[in-house]
Amino acid sequence: MSGRDGRGEGDEGEMVGRVLVLNTGSSSVKYRLLAGAERLASGTVERIGEPGSPVADHEAALKIVATELADRGLGLDSPELTAIGHRVVHGGTTFTEPTLITEEVVRKIEELVPLAPLHNPANLAGIEVTRRLRPDLPQVAVFDTAFHSTISPAAATYAIDREVAERLRIRRYGFHGTSHAYVSREAAAAVGRPGGNVIVLHLGNGASASAVSGGRCLETSMGMTPLEGLVMGTRSGDLDPAVVLYLGRVAGMSLDEIDELLNRRSGMRGLCGDNDMRAVQERLAAGDRDARLAFSVYCHRLRKYVGAYYAVLGTVDVIAFTGGVGENSPLVRQTALDGLEAMGIAVDPARNARGERIVSPDDAAVKVAVIPTDEELEIARQTLGIISRTNRG
Ligand code: AMP
Repeated sequence: MSGRDGRGEGDEGEMVGRVLVLNTGSSSVKYRLLAGAERLASGTVERIGEPGSPVADHEAALKIVATELADRGLGLDSPELTAIGHRVVHGGTTFTEPTLITEEVVRKIEELVPLAPLHNPANLAGIEVTRRLRPDLPQVAVFDTAFHSTISPAAATYAIDREVAERLRIRRYGFHGTSHAYVSREAAAAVGRPGGNVIVLHLGNGASASAVSGGRCLETSMGMTPLEGLVMGTRSGDLDPAVVLYLGRVAGMSLDEIDELLNRRSGMRGLCGDNDMRAVQERLAAGDRDARLAFSVYCHRLRKYVGAYYAVLGTVDVIAFTGGVGENSPLVRQTALDGLEAMGIAVDPARNARGERIVSPDDAAVKVAVIPTDEELEIARQTLGIISRTNRG
């Protein structure tokens, strides 16, 4: 079967074969079984390791996944299963592309645990269990950071002491890479400019922006961790680093307390108490002042990044909105891009309200697109791409 939109997959590998995509998080496992682009099964096992939960650990969770698949005649032992694709959050500078998993690869992902102490161990647990269940099956790690590995040293380097930064691997890595890869490609194709210049705004509960040219990422808003950049559901995004010092020295907060404040009690939740944009917008419509401030901080930050990435790219073919907010909130799209007509950026209100694929006016120099992201499909594609390249030797 060829890819979506009737496009062939070319060198990335024909979308043939079945791939089980696993996203093993600290407390949940999400899975999707794909045959080409067709979804055969999907599901989520939640509350892993929580008090009172029947799912004790990742091993138990993956056994539930295996049982759910087997019950539908699609078990892990099925000879039709080609490969398993694992989402892995942090690839550091070690992994710049999807990688066939071996003992050595597992060891190198372990070395990156200090950079992603919550995520990489969970991803590794998923890999270890499925390797035990199907040792003969090819398994591929697809890294959230990999798509951003092409950003230049100018974009990746923090202006701090070089020796400290290098010793501790402190630099900008970026995240949500599979989504930025998928959406930038789809958006460029949607406006007839494959290989063009794209600004991707991935706005979900986590949020990040990227500037992509010719399929290569030049800039992205998340940094060494997913805390940098845009305002998110519960994360602050950009912040004067001295705020952290102040919270410690003056407010006497511990590092764990500051971590919790910035990652879980900031962003939209910190500003107005709600991290769900639907609730924020309802309150905004009812005249709630906290919601109004939160919404304006959110959209102002977005607009600032659009301007910055326009400057990074020089010219822009398309701005693509994706993620739960980007795909579903005409108000965010309209407000974030309001007043940018001089840059060739405009949103057509009727198209925007209908959530059409292209929401800019026909004569706009810069197209604005709404592109639903599909990270599982992208992981499956990249997994099959590696398998077919490996098989071709
Ligand atoms: P994601 O992380 O991509 O699944 O996005 C989840 C977020 O999308 C939710 O927390 C909501 O804030 C937002 N969202 C979903 N549907 C809508 C909608 N109709 N309008 C505005 N925001 C939405």
